[in-house]
Amino acid sequence: KRNLDKSNAQFQRALKRLPLGVSSTFRYWGDDRTIYVHHGKGGRTWDIDGNNYVDYRLGYGPAILGYADDRVDAAASKGMEVGGVFALSTERELIVADRISRMVPAAELVRFSNSGTEAVMAALRLARAYTGREQYLLVEGGYHGLFDAAMWMSNMDEWDLGSNQDPELVPYGKGIPPTVKQLAHITPMNNYERLEDMFKKHGDKLAAMLIEPIQGNCCSIMAEVEYVRLARELCTKYGVMLIIDEVKSGFRVGKSGIQGLMGVTPDITTFAKAVANGYPISVVAGREEVMRHFRYGGASHGGTYTAHSVSLAAAEETLRILDETDALETIANYGESLKAGISKILDARNIVHSYTGHPSMFGLFFAETPPNNYRAWKTSDYSFYDTMAHYLHDLNIIVEPDSREPWFICEAHGKDPSCLTDTLNAVERAV
Ligand code: PMP
Repeated sequence: KRNLDKSNAQFQRALKRLPLGVSSTFRYWGDDRTIYVHHGKGGRTWDIDGNNYVDYRLGYGPAILGYADDRVDAAASKGMEVGGVFALSTERELIVADRISRMVPAAELVRFSNSGTEAVMAALRLARAYTGREQYLLVEGGYHGLFDAAMWMSNMDEWDLGSNQDPELVPYGKGIPPTVKQLAHITPMNNYERLEDMFKKHGDKLAAMLIEPIQGNCCSIMAEVEYVRLARELCTKYGVMLIIDEVKSGFRVGKSGIQGLMGVTPDITTFAKAVANGYPISVVAGREEVMRHFRYGGASHGGTYTAHSVSLAAAEETLRILDETDALETIANYGESLKAGISKILDARNIVHSYTGHPSMFGLFFAETPPNNYRAWKTSDYSFYDTMAHYLHDLNIIVEPDSREPWFICEAHGKDPSCLTDTLNAVERAV
């Protein structure tokens, strides 16, 4: 078992100044398991006790090439020379926007923000400005950021799907005002009938439908291609903006994201995470006619730190690498090898299992068929996974501790053969 003495002591000190001892609630992994990082390099993270982990969390996905990538960091240093933020624009914004537009055809026009939350907030506002409507539709199990409008679930247990009734919306936590939910609707993923009913009942009042076709915060549960296509058709029919949230999947599952793989064109898309290999930047992009509503007298959008020169320079280099090299292939191949290796270990013990998502961000399930929506996921027993994950932490592999998020792969994993062997040896022992 690894030594966490320094992390444990840091946790006790941090508790006095930082709520729960951390800066994001999800980084708290228990009083004696919360890790403090010394540094990361490539596909590995070192904690302050000197433990060296193969890391499949990658900061919730952003480190697509690996931590402290020399190419990206050199570019970021050049960005530093530009001088920070100006209350003015720089030339690099257009260079990066052009690249995004070439990679993702639906991104006709591009605006930058700082975080995924901000990009989705801007996307929803834009949809409202364009349509003149206020209501919006969420898909169960999706996560679109911290803002009040996004943080709603259904009262899943009591919602009779067959009854054509709308669910009671339940907030993700306290501090989210109930008045907000009057504008929100929710529908279960991959349930075609409910989706059609929803549009029949509310379609003409909806500004937007928000969907994460790979639910990166719900273990990579996938929307069926036909489901996303139906969403596209219904949105077009009812004049609703289809917002595909690619904050996690964008520039990871393919050069043109999950929308490219599924062949579905959204009106508005959001990106973040992989755009700049971890430097803070996000993107809201979409159809020209819609995006032109970002203007005086239209949808308000701005932000002191938007298009920060360091993040932009990092984005330019990260996207160049993802677009012009075989980095995404290296990532997907590693993901396939890892899945095959894990399966071999599990099959040898007749342990039934399955995977969701994409090789670059996959979920592992101990069931013959993986869940295809949040309610199936929520009601399954993941105790075996959770126990395995805790053993893996002790064996120096960082994976999601409680089957919430997928395993993320970076290019550096694929370039360092010891990542695969270390992981599979640990899985063997943990299982
Ligand atoms: N949308 C999706 C699909 C996400 O995965 C996330 C973050 N997990 C967000 C939005 C919010 O992004 P951020 O944490 O950068 O605000």
